[in-house]
Amino acid sequence: MDWFRKSKDGLVSQQKKEIPDGLWTKCKGCGEVIYSKILEEQLWVCPNCNYHFRINATKIISLLLDDGQLETYDDNLSSLDPLSFRDSKKYTDRIKASQQKTGMKDGLISGLGTIDGLPVSFAVMDFAFMGGSMGSVVGEKIARTIERAIEREIPLVIVSCSGGARMQEGILSLMQMAKTSALLAVLAKKKMPYISILTNPTTAGVMASYASLGDIIIAEPKALLGFAGPRVIQQTIGQDLPEGFQSSEFFMEHGFLDVISERKDLRRNLSLCLQYTYDKPVNG
Ligand SMILES: [Zn+2]
Repeated sequence: MDWFRKSKDGLVSQQKKEIPDGLWTKCKGCGEVIYSKILEEQLWVCPNCNYHFRINATKIISLLLDDGQLETYDDNLSSLDPLSFRDSKKYTDRIKASQQKTGMKDGLISGLGTIDGLPVSFAVMDFAFMGGSMGSVVGEKIARTIERAIEREIPLVIVSCSGGARMQEGILSLMQMAKTSALLAVLAKKKMPYISILTNPTTAGVMASYASLGDIIIAEPKALLGFAGPRVIQQTIGQDLPEGFQSSEFFMEHGFLDVISERKDLRRNLSLCLQYTYDKPVNG
């Protein structure tokens, strides 16, 4: 087989340079093309520039929980369409498309698990489901996750990744902010720890409610964090925003975060936080 043919410009490959889907991944941080298997071994962190790729809820469960096991609850809760909302597409069609894409009923997995033997009530959001938006199902599942922590007197861990409240459910989405925040106040009265983990991005209604209410708040490096987008803020206050505004590092510098943790250290850091804050006997 002729691998090369001669042309006026010299040797050219006869084969088109095609990268098979999924075998290689282009880093959004540095532009390097990385062998996906290497990326997977590195927990989807670029070996070149430390960019943390967004990973789905299932991968986060495998990363953080003992044996990657979570006893899931409320899997069958699914959004209704109370406002019969339609933009360029019907809301019901958007839900169906996301359900097919992710295999989830809505954008959050929740349940009970253990981390280094310590019991936790755990929830993790998945950005792939309508941008990790919080509608009434995500809000209700978060609320039930908090309630399980209250009833069982165990710590709460929530991993957030969200573009904010789900506009297709209007005020019903916004009400989830008050509902989840009120339950977190009950958990605090019980003196049970809540550890909030912020991944890229954690913004808007989620950031303005349960994501920012952790007793300890951990974020992944260089995650986009904030309430409104920079352009909206700039227009509202009429001022230029500082460099690096809305990054984990900026938030850490200004006292909003307790820990910035690389993904490879996240499980260990979370476990340490739980051990420091939860003093019940493991089997008690
Ligand atoms: Zn990179």
